[in-house]
Amino acid sequence: MVMPRPLVAGNWKMNGLRADGVALSRAVAAIDNVDCDVLICPPATLLTEIAASIAGSPVALGAQDCHAEAKGAHTGDVSAEMLKDAGCRFVIVGHSERRANHGETDAQVRAKAEAAHRAGLVAVVCLGETGQERDEGKTIAVVTRQLGESVPAAATAANTVIAYEPVWAIGTGRTPTLAEIAEVHGRIRAELSARFRDGAEIRILYGGSVNARNAAEILRISDVNGALVGGASLDAQSFLAICRSAV
Ligand code: PEP
Repeated sequence: MVMPRPLVAGNWKMNGLRADGVALSRAVAAIDNVDCDVLICPPATLLTEIAASIAGSPVALGAQDCHAEAKGAHTGDVSAEMLKDAGCRFVIVGHSERRANHGETDAQVRAKAEAAHRAGLVAVVCLGETGQERDEGKTIAVVTRQLGESVPAAATAANTVIAYEPVWAIGTGRTPTLAEIAEVHGRIRAELSARFRDGAEIRILYGGSVNARNAAEILRISDVNGALVGGASLDAQSFLAICRSAV
């Protein structure tokens, strides 16, 4: 079995106008000598310009969502093929903000991940329990269901990344304990290994209030193969410090 190379991904969410976004992407693209893959996911309006600004650097480009169809009458949506054409290699699907604010179901998330594969993109499939679900002891059941229903049957280590993001930890400054992260990641790994031929090599990222101070200890946990970073990815120095914490 090959140990997956860590991936540190920045989800900029709905932040960044052209000047700021390009400057941030250039600062991140200056990175060198890190023991991880680095990904930035700017808003859709910045993708083409940032694809040019990071060209030739080790940093990959991703989007934050895609439609399941390749084209058609879907006003306001962007297809995986369009993202690929704009220079993306990755796309996040099923982020909890999409699930909560846009009512996305596991089946829709799976269709988006399948669209990503069809277009030749790596799907970063997000999972995670709400605070109430954790308090009710349902974390493993919820994550297992999301994993089973949101991840396509054709997932491989080359075309899929899983991001475990407890909803209550996103943007709150609160994180699970290291033991709690290890428990969920261990369970996700077991499920992936049982279902997919190379499931032991599919990267599992932790996301939710990762910052430059807590990244090293989180990234050392077994079966944590990187981080999905929101707020701290908007500051180049913080994001680069997180990348340098990966081993
Ligand atoms: C996210 O939204 O994917 C995320 C992890 O956000 P934050 O790091 O700000 O908690």
